[in-house]
Amino acid sequence: MTITSINPATNKTIETYTPMTKDQTISAIGKADEAYQEWKNSSFEERRKAILSFANQLRERKEEFAKLITLDMGKRISESRDEIEFCAEIAEFYANNAEEFLADQPMSDVDADAYIHFEPIGVLMGVMPWNFPFYQVTRFAAPNIMAGNTVMVKHASNVPQCADAIEKLFRECGLPDSVYTNLFIPSEFVEAIVSDSRVQGVSLTGSEKAGAAVAALAGKNLKRSVLELGGNDPFIVLEDADIEKTVELAVKGRMMNAGQSCVASKRFILLESIANEFLERFKEAMGSLEMGDPTDEETTLAPLSTESAAVKLQEQVQSSIDAGATVLLGGDRPDREGAYFNPTILTDVTPDMPTFDQELFGPVATVYVVKDEAEAISLANQSSYGLGGSVYTQDKERGRRVAEQIETGMVFLNQPTNSQAELPFGGIKNSGYGRELSHLGILEFVNKKLVHMG
Ligand code: NDP
Repeated sequence: MTITSINPATNKTIETYTPMTKDQTISAIGKADEAYQEWKNSSFEERRKAILSFANQLRERKEEFAKLITLDMGKRISESRDEIEFCAEIAEFYANNAEEFLADQPMSDVDADAYIHFEPIGVLMGVMPWNFPFYQVTRFAAPNIMAGNTVMVKHASNVPQCADAIEKLFRECGLPDSVYTNLFIPSEFVEAIVSDSRVQGVSLTGSEKAGAAVAALAGKNLKRSVLELGGNDPFIVLEDADIEKTVELAVKGRMMNAGQSCVASKRFILLESIANEFLERFKEAMGSLEMGDPTDEETTLAPLSTESAAVKLQEQVQSSIDAGATVLLGGDRPDREGAYFNPTILTDVTPDMPTFDQELFGPVATVYVVKDEAEAISLANQSSYGLGGSVYTQDKERGRRVAEQIETGMVFLNQPTNSQAELPFGGIKNSGYGRELSHLGILEFVNKKLVHMG
C-alpha cells in the first residue's frame, strides 16, 4: 500500500509517503494515551490558547493550506480558501465556547444537591474522507481537544499532504506531542485501533460501506461512535418559489466542491407547474460552467478527487441511462486529461433504477417532476439516506410545514443545506448518527457524569 498525493487535474503524482507499520501504530496509541493522562488535566485556558493559535495560523497561512487541498484532491482554489477560513471559525467557536458548553449543569428539578459534570473520556480515533480534508478533521479535532480528549486521525489515503500539514500545524500551535496524531495507515489497521482498550471512541465521515465496517468494530468493542455518511438531499421547488433565484441556488447546492459533498443538493423535485421554466434555466446555468485547472481563479468546474471517482460516476450515470433515464445535459466525461466529468442533468429517473437510491458524488443532478406538495414530500422521503434537504417557497409557513415532514437530520428553507460552526450537523437513516458542530458536537465524546451530593 502506498500513500500518494496525485493531482486529479493532471493525474500526475506529486508526493508519496511511507505508511506506518502495525507496531508503529500501536506505539502511537500508547503515546496518545500518555498524552491524554496529562491533557485531561489541562486548563481550558491552555487548550484555548492552542486552538486559537491553530485558528490564527490557518488564517495567516491560508494560501499555503488552500493550495495543498487543491493539489491533493482538486478543489477550486477559492473554495479551498473558504474551507480554511471555515476551519478557523470552527476552531475559534470551540476555543471560545467549550468551557461554557462543558460547565457543570445543576439538576434543578430534583430535591438534592446533584449536577452533571462533563469529563473527557480518552483517546479517540477519527477516520476522515478527502472531500473537505481540513474541515472534516477540524470539526472532529477542535471540540474534542477542547474537551480534554486526545485524537488520532486516519485521513483518506489520497490527501496525505493535507493530513501531514494538519498534524504539523497542531504541534506548532503549542499542543503537547500526541494530543493530535496523524496516522499514515491502511484502513485495515483501524480494527486494531478501535479494539485497543486505550481507545474510547471512533468518529467516521465517509461512505456507508466504511461507516458500517467501523460501526461494527465499535459495537463489537463497546465503543462510542459517531457516523457522518452519505446523503441524497432533496431540493424541493414549490410552485410559488422565486425561480430565477432558486436556479442560482440549485447550481450552488449541486456544484459545491464539484458536487462532492455529502450535503450537496442531489435530487431536484419540481412541482409540475414550474418544472419547464426551472429546467430551461437550470440547464443553461449548469451548461455554462467552465471546466479548467482548479488553481485558475476563472475555473468554475474542477475535476473530481481521483480518476477512479470519475470512472465510478460514469458507471453510475450510464446505468441510469441504460435503464431509461433521459440526458438533459452532459452524461459523460470530456475528452481531456484529468478526472473531469461534464455537468449532467438526468430526468425520467425512476425508483427501479440502480442510481435512484445511490449517492452521485459529482456534478450530476437528477430531476423529478411531481404533481403536488404531498407527492414532493413522499418522493423526498423515498430514500435510504436522511442527511439534509431544502425547500423553496415564498410562503414561510408552507415551507415550515413541508420542512417538518422531511425525514432528514437538517432541512433549510430557501437555501441549500450548509454547515456553520454554531449549527448541529448530522443525519438519520443510512446517513449515520450523532451530531457534529454546535454545542451538541462537543458532547458526543464526554462522560456526562452525575455527581449526587445528597
Ligand atoms: P470511503 O468511505 O471509502 O473513505 C472514507 C474514509 O474511510 C477514508 O479514510 C478511508 O480510507 C476509510 N475507510 C474505507 N473503508 C474503511 C474500512 N473498512 N475501515 C476503516 N476505514 C475505512 O470513501 P471513498 O473515498 O471510497 O468514496 C466512496 C463514496 O463514499 C463516494 O463516492 C461518496 O458517495 C461517499 N463519500 C461520502 C462522504 C461524505 O462526506 N459523507 C465523503 C467521502 C465519500 P482510505 O482512503 O485509505 O480507503
